[in-house]
Amino acid sequence: MYELIQVSPTCYYIQSPAKVGVVLTGENEVCLIDSGSDKDAGKKVLRVLQSQGWTLKAIYNTHSHADHIGGNRYLQTQTGCAIYAPAIELAFTEHPLLEPTFLYGGNPPSALRHKFMVAQESDVLPLTGDVLPAGWEIVSLPGHTFRMVGFRTPDGVVYLADCLSSEATLEKYKVCFLVDPAQYIETLETVKTMEAALFVPSHADPAAEIAPLAQRNIDAVHAVANTLTTLCETPQSFDALLRRVFETYGLTMTFEQHALVGSTVRSYLTWLTESGKLEMTIDDNRLVWQRPQIS
Ligand SMILES: [Zn+2]
Repeated sequence: MYELIQVSPTCYYIQSPAKVGVVLTGENEVCLIDSGSDKDAGKKVLRVLQSQGWTLKAIYNTHSHADHIGGNRYLQTQTGCAIYAPAIELAFTEHPLLEPTFLYGGNPPSALRHKFMVAQESDVLPLTGDVLPAGWEIVSLPGHTFRMVGFRTPDGVVYLADCLSSEATLEKYKVCFLVDPAQYIETLETVKTMEAALFVPSHADPAAEIAPLAQRNIDAVHAVANTLTTLCETPQSFDALLRRVFETYGLTMTFEQHALVGSTVRSYLTWLTESGKLEMTIDDNRLVWQRPQIS
């Protein structure tokens, strides 16, 4: 972990649970794409940069999940680097308590306030085209979160953030986190058509060809949607449905999984309801989802 891997003349990543992109943007000056999971990760990342004699100019966050912004505060305090984040992701990055609040749907209990959910706060500026290093492009990747982005560098390396999961992750978790399945699929359909010298996803191996894995992720979304519509053959309240999802996929329920998979299932239910595949009704003071009844 935390080895520096070079993938093009100016592009690198630091191997860590969520890869940290490192791009040379001047003589001995680098910018990061994300910052690692916590203060400790930030320390290790800074050590890697220092060992190369590089100074850190800025961090470009792809989205606001703690494993991508957790090193922000440490690196900013140590180096004074600027930090940029897109749109609503900026609000979550400046105020990380919003993350478990969003997942839980109310004031989150302490079980959801640990560092894997709540990163340290950092000072963040809006990500716009004007603040990009020369030759970089923003790649819009909504779906996993509201406004996640990736970056294309002048070497043709595209950092893809969390827009797809590895085969192993799909096998293990089955229901991968997302906030909008429709956008998630749309993003992956676009990614399938992209050309790049190399794609660097945060949680999958770098690849020159990304379309097969993108399609595998699209298929996985449809599989979860089919499972939910099948389970809603009879009216299901949320926790009854979530329990059956965990049983179906052999998942282990914890407070975190209840929040993460629960939020994801709610997002699927919105998509399936809005597209007419399910109906959401109130029944005996319960919110329930069911397949439309043919009369
Ligand atoms: Zn993420």
